[in-house]
Amino acid sequence: MSTAIQSAAMTEEQLSTSRCYVAAGGMSCPVCDSEHLSVGKALLVGVGTIWPNECNTCGSTWHEVHKLDQIVDVTDKRGIS
Ligand SMILES: [Zn+2]
Repeated sequence: MSTAIQSAAMTEEQLSTSRCYVAAGGMSCPVCDSEHLSVGKALLVGVGTIWPNECNTCGSTWHEVHKLDQIVDVTDKRGIS
């Protein structure tokens, strides 16, 4: 895949910050740990989605990258009228 959601250019520090953020479920600011966040409008990129986030406490901004992983609970309703 060659989309904007690759992370190859990130530094070790950035990768570490990213891993911690993801491990914590994206519930707090990666800069100041505040839980007062605003989420913007999703952008579709390839097989993923990018969500712009902003911290309401320190004003830092970042983007969450959500990749399509799986689907569940598919219900075939073609035979239902
Ligand atoms: Zn913050």
